[in-house]
Amino acid sequence: MYKHLAAMRSTFSGDKVFHLNKVNVFLLKCLGFLFAIVLFMEFLLYYVVIGQCSWPDIKGVADHNTGSTLRVMFLADTHLLGEIRGHWFDKLRREWQMERSYQAALWLLQPNLVFILGDLFDEGKWSRTKAWDDDVARFKKMFRHPPHTELMVAVGNHDIGFHYEMTLHKLKRFEKAFNITSGKLVSRNGINFVVVNSVALEGDNCVICREEEEQLLRISHRLNCSRMQKHADFSKRCRNVRPVSATSPILLQHYPLYRKSDAECTGEDAASPEEKKVQFKEKYDVLSHNASEKLLNLLQPRLILSGHTHSACEVLHRGEIPEISVPSFSCRNRKDPSFIMGSFTADDFSLAKCFLPTENTIINVYSMGIVLLMIYVAAYIWQVTYGRKFLAKKHKPG
Ligand SMILES: [Zn+2]
Repeated sequence: MYKHLAAMRSTFSGDKVFHLNKVNVFLLKCLGFLFAIVLFMEFLLYYVVIGQCSWPDIKGVADHNTGSTLRVMFLADTHLLGEIRGHWFDKLRREWQMERSYQAALWLLQPNLVFILGDLFDEGKWSRTKAWDDDVARFKKMFRHPPHTELMVAVGNHDIGFHYEMTLHKLKRFEKAFNITSGKLVSRNGINFVVVNSVALEGDNCVICREEEEQLLRISHRLNCSRMQKHADFSKRCRNVRPVSATSPILLQHYPLYRKSDAECTGEDAASPEEKKVQFKEKYDVLSHNASEKLLNLLQPRLILSGHTHSACEVLHRGEIPEISVPSFSCRNRKDPSFIMGSFTADDFSLAKCFLPTENTIINVYSMGIVLLMIYVAAYIWQVTYGRKFLAKKHKPG
């Protein structure tokens, strides 16, 4: 009898060990599934989606990897939240999405140059020194880049305030943080870019506005001199001028040039029908008509890229100069964020758009994963409870 009891006990403890092992395997499978889904959604998805983008070709240039073509990425309105606005989770989530998108794009697309067209920060216009330093440090970590890629930024109204909130202190701390000066001519591979502080084009002769306008005049003179290098008057009119390539520049700034509204804008990421009905306010939504004409006359650009509206648009100025509104890079500002990819040679260019993973995709895949996991857990519990009872019934001595 004792022998029989001992045998029962050992079978019972053996069953228990077997059951515990099964539970451990089940839990490991659940954890593995969760880990795989988080790894895919938080890292790999960005490579899968952005990996589908490619540099646009320029007619007549066979291989854009040769040194003659400059590959440039344009982003706008990253709006990093500061200490005042927004929930901490909102901040964490959106910054993570932008960082992963940007890092995946750098790794996959290997641009030579990246421009971010203003409103890098949401609260630069009012943040105190400590908050400003924190925001700048986070921005630099998110948008870190290898030495062979250059990153340049334009200033926006959220970085230093709208014209009447803008102070020299706010402008200087922005310029110092990003090692730039307002109204800058950047020449790479014979391609000229002019980065403008569009907040300072109020035309009211304020100190910052005056400096910006003087700087634009100097750039205009330098570009004109470069265009007339073979001209007889060159040495007389262009003494002490360091010529650049004689090509028309690409104008980069935060505010778009003057347009009445976004009514004519087309495309899946253009403004919504309600937004299209809104008339733009000069010096607030877009540059004033006067400032826009002045920029076109002074710089004679071949292409303009701007931000601020958060939506896509393509406008033709004077019937021949295209302006591209670069949509916001942040999921906080639009559900389908993107950036523009440009291939440039000295006399031609070609643009394409690259969309980032959308929040809807991320939420849908996570929801699907949770449903699948719940089905698996429910099936396991059913098997453990009802399956065992069924087996126990079946093996009961009749
Ligand atoms: Zn703005």
